[in-house]
Amino acid sequence: MENCIFCKIVAGEIPSPRLYEDEKMIVIRDIEPKAKLHYLCIPKTHFALFSEMDEGGAEIVKHCFQVIPALEKALGLEDGYRVIVNQGENGGQTVPHLHIHLLGGEKLADF
Ligand code: 5GP
Ligand code: ZN
Repeated sequence: MENCIFCKIVAGEIPSPRLYEDEKMIVIRDIEPKAKLHYLCIPKTHFALFSEMDEGGAEIVKHCFQVIPALEKALGLEDGYRVIVNQGENGGQTVPHLHIHLLGGEKLADF
């Protein structure tokens, strides 16, 4: 997808160190961390919203949620973390390429 910052990161057009990568997803650090540890799990396929997700997209999201637990220790999230997927304007989504926020490394505020 043209002009999508996360597609550009996935393609390597914008350099961003990958903490994990496989054929379906990457994990990078958020450029503006909202917690001591703040990662983004980004599917390599472009779609913005769960409501746009097809069967292939659903498989990728399932894969992300299967891989994330296996990465907890390596990412320093073994004491717990928060998973956030912002959707659309009211959800505060600023990058219209679906991504999973992983926040941790400290006790997070209640919400
Ligand atoms: P959203 O608000 O769409 O749920 O989250 C987008 C996130 O992407 C924000 O937390 C923002 O800090 C992060 N972000 C935006 N541009 C970049 C970038 O170029 N590199 C990285 N690593 N994170 C980015
Ligand atoms: Zn994209």
